[in-house]
Amino acid sequence: MRPLTVVNAATATFECTFGRGCDGLCCRNGEPSVTAAERARIDAVLPRLLPPRRPAARPGGAPGGWLGDGQKLGLPMARVVDDWCVFFNQGCALHKLGAADGDFARYKPIQCVLFPLEPNGDGTWYVRQRGYDGEEWDDLFCLNPANTAVKAVDALAAELAVAADLGPAFTWGEASTAVPVAPAATGG
Ligand code: SF4
Repeated sequence: MRPLTVVNAATATFECTFGRGCDGLCCRNGEPSVTAAERARIDAVLPRLLPPRRPAARPGGAPGGWLGDGQKLGLPMARVVDDWCVFFNQGCALHKLGAADGDFARYKPIQCVLFPLEPNGDGTWYVRQRGYDGEEWDDLFCLNPANTAVKAVDALAAELAVAADLGPAFTWGEASTAVPVAPAATGG
């Protein structure tokens, strides 16, 4: 693993409580943007993704049929159905399929893989925290350091490994197409 600088490593906490009180709130109205490479990876396994998804969230199985109309970062976004990401069904169908294939990050959009890590644009990273760097998404239990003493750098070892392998030039957008194999499965 390449060295990775997390500028708020000393103070940042994080504890995913999905299945232990959290229903997967980070995926509620989740619309991750999707690069061309990510779309191709998802479309390639679409037949395997249809059964695990909510019936209302199955858009007929056509390639790209799971995309919405909007754009973020200049990229198309996954669709929201009944207030939840099209891939959410008691957890992320992309996460679960990837984990079953040996790598939780294989099919998830990189935005979801790295949450709650953010690049600073200079090769360093930070962990999103309530009150840190203008954090506005304040309804997430896991982003509030008052709720856990678990150090984020410990809880997010798998995500940090992915971030490290992306290299210092990583930025959100079309450039974020390489998703290296991560060592462990975490999160929803
Ligand atoms: S983690 Fe999965 S279910 Fe959640 S927003 Fe991302 S793609 Fe959708």
